[in-house]
Amino acid sequence: MIDSHCHLDCIDVSEREGGIQSVLDVARDHGVDRMLCISITLENDSPRRLAKTFEAVWATVGIHPCHAHEEPGVTVDKLLELARSDSVIAFGETGLDGFYEPVTDVQRESFTTHLQAGKQAGLPIVVHTRDARDETIELIKTHGSTEVPGVLHCFTESWEMAKRAIDLGYYISMSGIVSFPKATNVHQVCRKIPDDRLLIETDSPWLAPVPYRGKPNEPAFVSHVAAAVAQLRGTKPEVIADQTTENFFRLFGAAIL
Ligand SMILES: [Zn+2]
Repeated sequence: MIDSHCHLDCIDVSEREGGIQSVLDVARDHGVDRMLCISITLENDSPRRLAKTFEAVWATVGIHPCHAHEEPGVTVDKLLELARSDSVIAFGETGLDGFYEPVTDVQRESFTTHLQAGKQAGLPIVVHTRDARDETIELIKTHGSTEVPGVLHCFTESWEMAKRAIDLGYYISMSGIVSFPKATNVHQVCRKIPDDRLLIETDSPWLAPVPYRGKPNEPAFVSHVAAAVAQLRGTKPEVIADQTTENFFRLFGAAIL
C-alpha cells in the first residue's frame, strides 16, 4: 500500500526510539511500503531531505494555500528548480481554501503558478480544495494539464465537484475522514469514485482514522483508510490496496525512476 499524502516531517518523533525510521518500520509492518511526503512551504525542505534519505519516501514541492501569503510571488522557475531532484515527483500541496477566510488573490496566483509548473515539468499536482469548488475547477481547466493531471486530496466536497475533476483526468483521494460514522457526504462520494481514479492517504499527523481518531496519525494507519473504503465499496481491503497502488503509479509514475 502507498500513503499518497502524509506530512512525515510534522510527525512528533521526539519520544520515539528510532525516530522517523521507526515510523517507516511500523508502516511497513502494516503493509505500507511507500509514502508521498507533502510540502507546505518551500522554505521548509524537510520533505525533500527525507525523500533523499529514505527509499520509502518521495516528496513534493509546493506551498499550501493557507500558507500562500507567507511565500507570495512564487515563480514557475523557482518551482521547477526545486523539483529537479529525483525524489520529487509532484507539485503541491497547492489549491484554494475558502474555509477559514475568503479565497485570496495570493492563493489564486500561487495555485496558477503550480499548475503551470506541473504542465511544463510533466509532473502531477496535489490539490488542496475547501469551500472553493467552482474556482478550483476553473483554474485547473484553464492552467492545468490533461495529460499529467493531479489529485484532489483529502476530499470532502460534493460528488458534483469530484465528477468535474474526474472528467478533467483528476484522481480523488480519501483520508481518515472516510472512517468517521457521520461523514455521510464523504461516504457517498467514496462509493461513486471510479476504480481507476481512487487514491488513499493519511494526511498524517492529522485526521487519524477510526480506531485512532483524535490521536496522532501516521502512514501505517492508511491501512485503516483502505479498510473503511473497502467496506463502503463492498469489497476487500486487499482489492483497495492493489487498486490504489496501481492508480498511484499511473498518476505519479512518470517521475519515478
Ligand atoms: Zn496535507
